[in-house]
Amino acid sequence: MKIVRFKSENHFSFGVAISGQVKQLVGSPYKRLIYSGNVFAENEIKLLAPCKPSKIVAIGLNYRLHADELECNLPSHPLMFLKPPSSVIGHEEEIIHPAISQQVDFEGELGIVIGRKGHLVPVDEAGQYIFGYTCFNDITARDLQKIDGQWTRAKSFDTFACIGPWIETELSPVALKIETFLNGELKQCGNTADMIFSPIELVSAVSQVMTLEPGDVIASGTPAGIGPMEIGDVVDVKIEGVGTLRNRVSARHLFS
Ligand code: MG
Repeated sequence: MKIVRFKSENHFSFGVAISGQVKQLVGSPYKRLIYSGNVFAENEIKLLAPCKPSKIVAIGLNYRLHADELECNLPSHPLMFLKPPSSVIGHEEEIIHPAISQQVDFEGELGIVIGRKGHLVPVDEAGQYIFGYTCFNDITARDLQKIDGQWTRAKSFDTFACIGPWIETELSPVALKIETFLNGELKQCGNTADMIFSPIELVSAVSQVMTLEPGDVIASGTPAGIGPMEIGDVVDVKIEGVGTLRNRVSARHLFS
């Protein structure tokens, strides 16, 4: 099932996307689905990021080949950092290239969306806390990451967490092809089977540190092949069984 958030006229709602239509839901989808009875054609609505995370926990170095390309040793535990809720954008919204960075990179990732409040969750129960999966682009100001020595500034600009286009709730994440395209050209091609820490291990590990809330997102790390984007570029993150998240890179609008 594909869970979306959308705007129609002046209303913001969750919904279920099916066969070119969106069935509106009442409230949030995490406990159970309550349909309003309203149905919209996809061209009547604007898709938003499919959840409103209280926090985004991103994982560094979770694919072996990516660790190799950065000349880093494999981590013994998941390397966690945070991206703020203010960095979130949805499908087909614009990534704003900050003027103070000379290198803004894409990082295509599998996003894990949390469905239940969880703290100190054992690995063998962690699957119960996963609502579904989405495409995630962990946009990174690579030059600022190197200058600062820690990652908050480089990872946290507004528009640097692209999420969408929806949450797929019926999917096994064990061996999914994950690809990133820049202007249609394949740049990253990985498989979730190559993750060092699996989604359930990540949910458990993060929950040892902080309480996870419904709608929170764990960005599970990027495969090899990261690279820079220029203003005007279009970046697609495509995950087998989920869909394709598309965003264009823009300069800050001079006259707005
Ligand atoms: Mg990343």
